[in-house]
Amino acid sequence: MRYAILGDIHSNLTAFEAVLRDAGDREGFDKIWCLGDVVGYGPDPHECIERLRQFEHVCVAGNHDWAAIGKMDTAEFNPVAARACHWTAQQLTAEDIDYLQNLPLSLCQDGFTLVHGSPREPIWEYLLSIESAQDNFAYFETAYCLVGHSHVPLIFELAGNRAAYRMFPEGANLKLGKKRLIINPGGVGQPRDGDPRASYALYDTEARTVYHYRVEYDIPATQKKMAERGLPMPLIMRLSVGW
Ligand code: ZN
Repeated sequence: MRYAILGDIHSNLTAFEAVLRDAGDREGFDKIWCLGDVVGYGPDPHECIERLRQFEHVCVAGNHDWAAIGKMDTAEFNPVAARACHWTAQQLTAEDIDYLQNLPLSLCQDGFTLVHGSPREPIWEYLLSIESAQDNFAYFETAYCLVGHSHVPLIFELAGNRAAYRMFPEGANLKLGKKRLIINPGGVGQPRDGDPRASYALYDTEARTVYHYRVEYDIPATQKKMAERGLPMPLIMRLSVGW
């Protein structure tokens, strides 16, 4: 089996399509594992949900997915994110709302736990420090865990009972071994590691290897749509710099 691991699509259909094309060019995939935040920030919330649902896939809930359907308050969002969230809410069909409403907080798939934020706090916690990663290894039972939310590609591994940070650079082939891992494939629709290209991973179960890829996409096309829809300027600008 080959799984495409996609996190934080964030209503960016142009980036999503570029990733689907790239994965297709690399022998394709059988199923998508989506790590949440399908919507929020970008210009095509309904289209991204619709496109995702055309594939065999599973998806967990992200904070933006919940906020867009009023399952969570936007009080903790910054004003710009909250504005985009209110706009997003108006674009969703009844079917979209039903889909987002029923996303689970976590899933176990083929030896991996899938969550948006962290195993301990699936909706809210950002896993960016060794300390928080170390605590979180106690909160999932599979050998490996996939997270999104920070939009930063990275790997934490557990060596003995101590967590360590590992880079997850573009083109990396991560061979799965005995060490437990928490892996973030980076963000499809709004990368935040200083590289504006869409980020995703593929897992090949036969090779027991997770591959990390970056994909160019038409950033100005997404930005133009955002401007036409009146989405906040800071959200438009940040796509150019991957932040
Ligand atoms: Zn996100």
